[in-house]
Amino acid sequence: MFDTLSDRLTSVLTNLRGKGRLSDADIDATAREIRIALLEADVALPVVRNFIKGVKDRAKGAEVSQALNPAQQVIKIVNEELVTILGGETRRLEYAKNPPTVIMLAGLQGSGKTTLAGKLAKWLAGQGHTPLLVACDLQRPNAVNQLQVVGERAGVPVFAPEPGNGVGDPVGVSRRSLDEARRAQHDVVIVDTAGRLGIDEEMMKQAADIRDAITPDEILFVLDAMIGQDAVNTAEAFRDGVGFSGVVLTKLDGDARGGAALSVREVTGQPIMFASSGEKLEDFDIFHPDRMANRILGMGDLLTLIEQAEQAFDQEQAEQAAQKLGTGQLTLEDFLEQMQAVRRMGPLQNLLGMLPGAGQIKDQLANFDEKSLDRIQAIIRGMTPAERADPKIINASRRQRIARGSGVAISEINDLVNRFFEARKMMQQMAGQFGGFGGGGSRN
Ligand code: GDP
Repeated sequence: MFDTLSDRLTSVLTNLRGKGRLSDADIDATAREIRIALLEADVALPVVRNFIKGVKDRAKGAEVSQALNPAQQVIKIVNEELVTILGGETRRLEYAKNPPTVIMLAGLQGSGKTTLAGKLAKWLAGQGHTPLLVACDLQRPNAVNQLQVVGERAGVPVFAPEPGNGVGDPVGVSRRSLDEARRAQHDVVIVDTAGRLGIDEEMMKQAADIRDAITPDEILFVLDAMIGQDAVNTAEAFRDGVGFSGVVLTKLDGDARGGAALSVREVTGQPIMFASSGEKLEDFDIFHPDRMANRILGMGDLLTLIEQAEQAFDQEQAEQAAQKLGTGQLTLEDFLEQMQAVRRMGPLQNLLGMLPGAGQIKDQLANFDEKSLDRIQAIIRGMTPAERADPKIINASRRQRIARGSGVAISEINDLVNRFFEARKMMQQMAGQFGGFGGGGSRN
């Protein structure tokens, strides 16, 4: 996600560390380097100009803070300016007073609209809403079917024209979908519309007709972050042709320069509301300008990590495991449960990428093989409950049986068991030093 930009900015700011005082010349030089980094990442020129001006004015005006050294002050200023161009406050969906809330999606073909419809539906359902997906992309041959597949995966029903009835009439379908939503008590309606490969008057007109038929509460413009410089023109064309109340950035997992997408808020005046970072339905989240700025500046995104952990972990189970850790009673069964919980949070690569300084271990992260975790889980699942509870009983013949059952080499089982004992011993020692895990410590 914005890797190139992130690398460049982090290195510019790292160069400042260790300087006692920053002269105006230091600040100018830093501003110049930031400017190059932003331009190389395709951030739009007017946005870069504003950004640099903001940073320079504030850095030279020396907002003196007792707590921060000069380099830290510049980092803080850059961070805050970045939050500002990304939109400042997090903008959340606004729901209609009288349901259903109508959300219309607009964007070019291939921008990820249909996938996003499923992601949004799943996310809303997870928050207790009862969404209805509506197929109004009747242009692309397979689009209705694709939305049905996505809807099934999200566990959300899809309203689509019956074969032979309304197939050529997306406006009619959109209108009828609202009746259906009221009838079946769906509180949110998500309308997928047709896109084209490029900006096209007919497409804009169709989207505007649908808009007029259903008066959406939110129109989300879906923007592929990988399209580079075209992002800004496309966003302006949709703003003028259809209008929108928020932006969704997709394909942020791509290693593209992506900076153009970062300009979209400032250029169109509309906030980025959601970010999509993969093909799976779970690869989707609210866009928080402050957290994104932290990530871009290599400061990690611990808040998102913590939120994901809260969803994935069973609090009671985690506390029990922490207590067992401290007393050396942790079993492979506990280990398996914890590991499964961690993996529910998403691919380990993504999780580690949210830690501060993750940029420095990027290569190791890229080479991390998620399959090695599958193998560990397979080994533990191949053990009997008694073996999981007390791995010491795993003798040579048991090892052979487990290896056969889980399809791995005996040496991998040896490795796992040995590492488990070492880790347990280490945890126990740490618990001894720090007065125990889980028990007694204050939590807030
Ligand atoms: P639509 O034409 O706008 O409806 O776009 P689709 O939803 O069909 O998406 C086009 C392609 O982009 C599909 O292959 C999707 O799997 C893929 N896609 C969508 N969102 C993302 C994303 O966030 N990351 C990645 N890597 N691929 C995505």
